[in-house]
Amino acid sequence: MLLVIPCVIAFAAPGTLPDRLEIEAHIDPDTQRFEVTARYEFQAAAEQSAIEFYLNKNFVIEELTGPQVESHRFEHGNSMLDAVGKKLTIRRHPDHRDAGPVSISLRYSGTEPQAFLGSWVEVFADRLWVPTHPSLARVLETRCRLSFPRPHQVLGVANWTEHEGAWTCETPATRTDLAFVASPELFFADFEESGFQATLATGLADGHVLARPIADELLWILEYYHQSFGAEEPHSEVRLVIRPEDGGLPAYARPGYIVLHLANEKDWDHVPVFQLFAHEAGHLWWCKGDPSGYENWLNESFAEYVSLLAVRERFDDETFEAMLERRREVSGGLPPILGLERTHPQAGTVFYKKGCVLLHDFAEILGRDEFEELLGFLVADGVDCTADLLTTVSELYGDEPAQWLERRLRE
Ligand SMILES: [Zn+2]
Repeated sequence: MLLVIPCVIAFAAPGTLPDRLEIEAHIDPDTQRFEVTARYEFQAAAEQSAIEFYLNKNFVIEELTGPQVESHRFEHGNSMLDAVGKKLTIRRHPDHRDAGPVSISLRYSGTEPQAFLGSWVEVFADRLWVPTHPSLARVLETRCRLSFPRPHQVLGVANWTEHEGAWTCETPATRTDLAFVASPELFFADFEESGFQATLATGLADGHVLARPIADELLWILEYYHQSFGAEEPHSEVRLVIRPEDGGLPAYARPGYIVLHLANEKDWDHVPVFQLFAHEAGHLWWCKGDPSGYENWLNESFAEYVSLLAVRERFDDETFEAMLERRREVSGGLPPILGLERTHPQAGTVFYKKGCVLLHDFAEILGRDEFEELLGFLVADGVDCTADLLTTVSELYGDEPAQWLERRLRE
C-alpha cells in the first residue's frame, strides 16, 4: 500500500495555541459508514479570508454552518494529503471577520472501506476521518464521542472511557488524526515495569497467551531507550495495539500509542518483528521533526538506527551487522537527505535506510559513548531540526564532526 502519511506525526511547537474540536461519530462496521457531527473552533486573524482543512475524499459534506461562514468548497487540493482527502475551503464573510475564535459546525458522512478489517475498526491520519489541518503537526483540544451499532471496545491516542454504550475521550491537545482502534473482541492487559506502564490490546485469538511476552519485549525496549538516551520519561504510559491481521496497513506510532501487526501469530519473537517493535517504540522519543519534508529524517533515521542498537543489545553483534549491511546495500545512488521532498519516490528508502547507515557511520567516527551521549542531549533539548542538530554537535564535539555530518547529509 502506498503510504501517504508519515508513520509519525510531530509534536507542535511549544506555546502553540490549541484549537478545539468536538466530534460525535457513529461508525457502522457492517456498512463501513461514518456519520459525523463536528464542531471546530480555531483562532484566525481578522484578515484571514479563508480557512482550509482536509477531509476524507469519500465523505460528503451534508451541512456546514457558522456565524462567519460565507461559502465553502470541497475539492482536490495540492498537498500530500490529496491521495486520501480533499481540501475543504471555507470562505469567511467579509462583514463578520472579527479577530478571535471562529466556529464552524459541520455534518458529514460516507463510507471508508479501508478503515475496517471485518468488525475491527482502525483510524489514523491516512483515513482523514476528522477535519485535519494541512500542517499535520497542528494540535487540537479534542472531545470525541463514538458509538457503534453493536458493542465495541476502544483504545487509542487519548484515554477512552465507556458510558452507556458510547466511548468518549477528552484530550488537552492531540494530533489532528485522533488515532484509535475499536473491536468487539479486544483483549486488554496491563503491565508495569521500571516506571513504565503498558496497556496492550489485541484482537489475536491467542491474545491472552501472547500478551505477557509481547509486553515484556516492549517494556524491555522502553527501559533500554530510557537508560540509553531518555533524559526524562516522556512516555511512562504506553498503549500498544497488536492488530489481528495485516490488511496492508502500516505499523505506526503516536505519542504514547503504538500499533503493530503480526504477519503470523507465532512470529512475535523473531528478530525482524522485534526490530519493528523497537522502531515504533523509538518514535516515542524520535518524533519532533516536521514530517512533511526532509526533516522527517530526524524521525525515521533515528527511530530506525536506535532500533538496530536495541537489536544489538538484545541479540548480538552479528545480527546487528547483518541488518545494517542490508540497509547499506540499498543506500547507494540515492539523493541527499537535505532538501529531499517528502513526495520523492525514494524518500522512504532515504529516510529509513540511508539515514540509518549515515547515523551508524557517524557513531563510529564520533565514538559509541559520545554518540549515545549526543542522543541524550538531543532528547533533553527537544532538537527538532537539522540546523539545531548540527549546532549541538558543533558545540559538544567541535566543528569537524559537525562538518562531516553536514557533508554526508548533502551527499
Ligand atoms: Zn517510523
